Amino acid sequence: MFARPYILPASLLALIALAMAVAGPIPQLTDYHAFADQRALAGLANAADVLSNLGFLAVGAYGLLLVQRARTLRHLDDVRFSYGLFFAALVATAFGSSWYHLAPDDTRLLFDRLPIALACAGLLAVTARRHLDAPRCINGLLVAFAVGSVSWWGLTEDLRPYLLLQIAPLVVIPVVLVANRAPKAELEAFGCAIGWYVLAKVFEMADHSVFDVLGVSGHTIKHVLATAGTLCIARYLSAQVGTVVIPAHAGTPAESSGGANVYVRDARHGSPRARG
Ligand SMILES: [Zn+2]
Repeated sequence: MFARPYILPASLLALIALAMAVAGPIPQLTDYHAFADQRALAGLANAADVLSNLGFLAVGAYGLLLVQRARTLRHLDDVRFSYGLFFAALVATAFGSSWYHLAPDDTRLLFDRLPIALACAGLLAVTARRHLDAPRCINGLLVAFAVGSVSWWGLTEDLRPYLLLQIAPLVVIPVVLVANRAPKAELEAFGCAIGWYVLAKVFEMADHSVFDVLGVSGHTIKHVLATAGTLCIARYLSAQVGTVVIPAHAGTPAESSGGANVYVRDARHGSPRARG
């Protein structure tokens, strides 16, 4: 049985999984590797789709720096590892996706999809740890699912588990944040990230037509927009790293450092609530 806070997100995921089970295996499109922009630049094949991964490297490295700076901050104890997983996966995405786009094929796509799956796992773990009182092992369970979902596609050509993992953050995170009355800054950050990611997927699906109109392909723009989404998460963590935790019983006025929000630990959930 799920503990109570899990019921709504678990039910939604179960419904999506059920719909996928009924739909049957979802294979990859046969022309998936035929990207619109195949122009080389200074000998670099598919240059735009390769170079547009640099943003993931920058945001991932910045996020890992923030995680390192947060190592002594108690109010981030529960989510530090999950954020680390997310940002490390972004760095890996930069390398995996660049390698794939240099010479797109199914084997290389494994190394593009695996870090993306791990990034989804990291974001889900952040939300589950912060708002659902999920135990630390949720990180390992989600990593196992991420690896399993990509392996399943590699072995069977069925994308359903991988797609489920991609859809899960888009459905679960907003529901959990709203249901748990998450602080406004957190709602805005994750809402912004999801918004950019959904827009990125729209451009991905219109790869060729966007290229015909703009001269820049939909897939290249997808990389950039998805990077913008990850930057929303990094900026939010940056604000969290700049917070000062003040005991709820403290009688002195709350002070902030560098204009960052001041948080008070919620004794019931161990999660911060914004003040001021
Ligand atoms: Zn790509």
